[in-house]
Amino acid sequence: MSNLRVKSVLEASSHKAVKVELPKERVERYYGCKVFNRAKMFEYLPRETYDALVEAIDQRKPLSRQLADSVAQGMKQWALDNGARHYTHWFHPLTGSTAEKHDAFIEHDGKGGVVENFSGKLLVQQEPDASSFPNGGIRNTFEARGYSAWDISSPAFIDDNTLCIPTVFISYTGESLDYKTPLLRAINSVDKAATKVVNLFDPSVKHVYSYLGWEQEYFLVDEALYAARPDLVMTGRTLMGHESAKNQQLEDHYFGSIPSRVEAFMLELEIECHKLGIPVKTRHNEVAPNQFEIAPIFEECNLANDHNLLLMSVMEEVARRHNFRVLFHEKPFAGINGSGKHNNWSLGTDNGVLLFAPGKTPDDNLRFVTFIANVMAAVYKHNGLMKASIITATNAHRLGANEAPPAIISMFLGKQLSNILDKIENRDPDSLKVDSKEKISLDVAQIPELLLDNTDRNRTSPFAFTGNRFEYRAVGSSANNAAALIALNAAVAVQLDEFADKVSKRMAAGDDKTSAILKEVRELIIESKPIHFDGNGYSEEWLEEARKRGLDTETSAPKMYDAYMRPETVEMFEKSGVLSLKEIEARNEVKWEMYTKKIQIESRVIGDLAINHIIPAAVRYQSLLLDNVYKIKQLFSGAKADSISAIDMENIETISDHVAAIKTTVKEMVECRKHANHLDSEREKAIEYHDFVLPKMEKIRRHIDKLELMVDNEIWPLPKYRELLFIR
Ligand code: ADP
Ligand code: MG
Repeated sequence: MSNLRVKSVLEASSHKAVKVELPKERVERYYGCKVFNRAKMFEYLPRETYDALVEAIDQRKPLSRQLADSVAQGMKQWALDNGARHYTHWFHPLTGSTAEKHDAFIEHDGKGGVVENFSGKLLVQQEPDASSFPNGGIRNTFEARGYSAWDISSPAFIDDNTLCIPTVFISYTGESLDYKTPLLRAINSVDKAATKVVNLFDPSVKHVYSYLGWEQEYFLVDEALYAARPDLVMTGRTLMGHESAKNQQLEDHYFGSIPSRVEAFMLELEIECHKLGIPVKTRHNEVAPNQFEIAPIFEECNLANDHNLLLMSVMEEVARRHNFRVLFHEKPFAGINGSGKHNNWSLGTDNGVLLFAPGKTPDDNLRFVTFIANVMAAVYKHNGLMKASIITATNAHRLGANEAPPAIISMFLGKQLSNILDKIENRDPDSLKVDSKEKISLDVAQIPELLLDNTDRNRTSPFAFTGNRFEYRAVGSSANNAAALIALNAAVAVQLDEFADKVSKRMAAGDDKTSAILKEVRELIIESKPIHFDGNGYSEEWLEEARKRGLDTETSAPKMYDAYMRPETVEMFEKSGVLSLKEIEARNEVKWEMYTKKIQIESRVIGDLAINHIIPAAVRYQSLLLDNVYKIKQLFSGAKADSISAIDMENIETISDHVAAIKTTVKEMVECRKHANHLDSEREKAIEYHDFVLPKMEKIRRHIDKLELMVDNEIWPLPKYRELLFIR
């Protein structure tokens, strides 16, 4: 795009830092001011209501209708006092984003006027007309409508003068139509199973919590340049664009100083988050130009995930105020790093013990290796499912590319932990019978407490042990984390449950507790060895090796979803009570449908851009060259004319070749789409889009990117990477 045009596009937005109004108070004063948290409940609810609600939240008990009415009164008053005029049930449909339908706090007063009103009934349950949310056929099959129901474990909050009530979204026959329902079920299931296992060590534990600390990566693009890129606007990524001469080679962006425009955005974002009770703490530049990260202090999984979804929508709003657009797409720009959302995940007891952290006593450390070995086994048995849970049409561009985890799930443990596990594995199992206290002190008692300072952090691993937690790095930046956490928590729950059973069988057969546990742990370590990989995940050798080990190496996203339908997956989900077969089938239909739709839109956009933007520009430039050649031939003659016009002639031909190739490929791509669209099966359709439409898009792009290097910059119709990627 010509410098002049870029300049005028940029002038449309002021690319100066926007001044941010700083709160007059300190953060502890305004933190959570938009949240109906326990302090607000205490202030606005009658004492008995407060006590009963807190007990229901802590003990995960249902709420009586009478109590709901009383809560609704207090919540409404708080919301009105804080400027809210509307309320909404806030839920997470399978589109991956959040949904809300606003209602005003009014009702007829019977005298022709209205009164402000909000009842327990409206708080607890609603029936959004949600027929257009994806449901994989569930509502057709069961002729059931969907309803949303209050999730009391996540506090209500005010966003944009609307009281938002976090809810689950289910069909009348009880099938989940959202992400939250199965996530809550999985959290419950892992609570029960992990409590059983941890009770072997500490009988006083009543609950185990699942924790999540996400790290959200994103790109910022100037709003005016964004608007000049139809592909970014419609698909969230650039479907074409030659690499910029300078991008991330110098690694000068990572942790570099943050541009003042961006810093102003981040500052306002943090203030907004803190008001909403989202404990964001860390911010920095990421590896790619214009790429950044924001991370909170970790929280209980369900709340943390609500906070992440809320953050994403707040980010979009705040970015607009700073004349930016935020890109959550996993791969908005080819040739530079994409964005992920690392999920730091752990389990912890109600008395404050983190179960993936070693402790001070041999018993603590036996507990530590017990939980590590069980996670290894769960991830190993379900590695195909784990991958299916994070793959989407958008994340597929990032996985397997050279800067992100490969499309193989493996587990990084680090040297210290690997040594400990090796020691246990190499024990003669018979020797574990006697003197068990002493044996465990030999094997596992000496674990350094500060595994946290583990410096050999392997960036290429999709699932890494990082001292007191696992970091699931394969999750995509635009994803609802729940998809990954449902699979992970459910698989770990079933694994822990089996473990507890096996240990009690051994004990019933005469083993003491310690040797029963150690023997089972040893078996898990041996059995799940293939998942353990500390090497370079990007190497060719790893792919070969992973195949030999029998890990899932499927690279086609639509085929990865098959992992959900495997008998062992269905059994695991049913056993844990997280998803029924019907739900799994319906969800897979939605996944395939979403995959197809995303590629279909991209394919249409690149087709239009190629024909309406790129080819006309290329032809215009070609005609300039032709004109030049024509004039040369008028002025000079014979060999001289040929030699002077040789380069132009060559370029004219090359442009013709590219234009012709683009035209033919666009036609072929449209034919591929037509063919795919006629297929009945959503799975087959998605596979066709993957196998035939995507490669055509890539081919078109290659030709366009070549043209971008040839055609006069003044004529090129789209902002280029070098213009999009360096915020001034
Ligand atoms: P890094 O980029 O080095 O991985 P960050 O500080 O950016 O680390 O992010 C780490 C994330 O992990 C934060 O959200 C942090 O709160 C979270 N975290 C730390 N300990 C745990 C834990 N035990 N369980 C879950 N999340 C954790
Ligand atoms: Mg991290």
